Amino acid sequence: MPYDPGRVGFRDIPQIIAVHQDAYRRRQLMEEPDLTYLFWECTLRCNLRCTHCGSSCEATTPLDELTTAEIMGVLDTIHEDYDTTRMVVAITGGEPLLRPDLYDVMRKMNRFGMTTGIVTNATVLTRERAQKLIDAGIGTTSISLDGPEEPHDLVRGKGSFAKTVAGMRTAAEVGVPVVEAITCVRAANVHRLAEVERLVRENGASSWRLITIDRMGRGGNPELWLGPAQVREMLDFIEDRRRALAQAGDRFDIRYSCGGFLGVRREFTVRPGDGQCFAGLCIASILCDGQVSACPSLPRSWAQGSVREKRLSTIWNERFEQFRDRSWGKTGVCERCIWWGVCLGGGLHERLAQPDEFCWVERQRG
Ligand code: SF4
Ligand code: SF4
Repeated sequence: MPYDPGRVGFRDIPQIIAVHQDAYRRRQLMEEPDLTYLFWECTLRCNLRCTHCGSSCEATTPLDELTTAEIMGVLDTIHEDYDTTRMVVAITGGEPLLRPDLYDVMRKMNRFGMTTGIVTNATVLTRERAQKLIDAGIGTTSISLDGPEEPHDLVRGKGSFAKTVAGMRTAAEVGVPVVEAITCVRAANVHRLAEVERLVRENGASSWRLITIDRMGRGGNPELWLGPAQVREMLDFIEDRRRALAQAGDRFDIRYSCGGFLGVRREFTVRPGDGQCFAGLCIASILCDGQVSACPSLPRSWAQGSVREKRLSTIWNERFEQFRDRSWGKTGVCERCIWWGVCLGGGLHERLAQPDEFCWVERQRG
């Protein structure tokens, strides 16, 4: 009988206890939110035009992006209102390396004790830029690599694979502390994950995160989405590799990204605990035009105010209720689900982008 992610038996009791412990931590954060993870979407400009991009980035930005003085001022207020030494900042885009003041802003973040990382396509990551990132105090460089050359170039543009691989190698050679690869898994590369693993390891990544495509921005093409058999194939691959690496004492880290509840047998086997949606509980995002949301993956209409008008802490304290009380989501498939208490209705970005197909327990069936 095929594996049913919604069905459990006695052998699943340890996993059930573990997911409930994890859910308890989330519920505590719903009562007492604790901002420790901040995204800064520094620009929507991008030198590529990937066909699966959730942000629909272009060479020019359609929005009035925060100036250097504005983001520096926002950082000052954050430093006044929070213990920034506990804060991780993930700088996203667009392509962050196109923002000329990136290094100055990162230096300030690091002066405030924040741990910084960027998410980049790495196609313009020269030795000089990698050194500037290191000098600015970079922690992690997360590089998007969507597989061997053919599936990568198919969505990211001809010639981009070679540039990204070169950028990854450069980051590792110059000595960026952590080089992480991120792969968008889709029908065209789900069968080639072993090849991708080899590639990212050979080119200096010490960890590898697999994500799936959201039906946002340019990700609305059904050819990019995984069917149930492909979802199982991806999760089986991650599970097998994590087990094998642990048995071999190999510290290379493979994991599935954050998102909705995957079922008790999947949680903790394809990612460590805390893999579920923490948007608005410990995570906030400053979008490129200063709007504040719980996560940059959410539709922009879910932004709750602007740092041009209010302090981040005011928006966090006064406008984030709907991210913390998720009872509004207990409808449809979730209404009678036995996993509601641990899942709380799935990953927010998936729930909002694809309301008819956001449940990962359901997405593994069939
Ligand atoms: S909204 Fe989605 S991407 Fe953001 S934290 Fe939640 S699951 Fe992760
Ligand atoms: S039906 Fe809803 S609550 Fe149940 S597992 Fe799926 S997303 Fe979570």
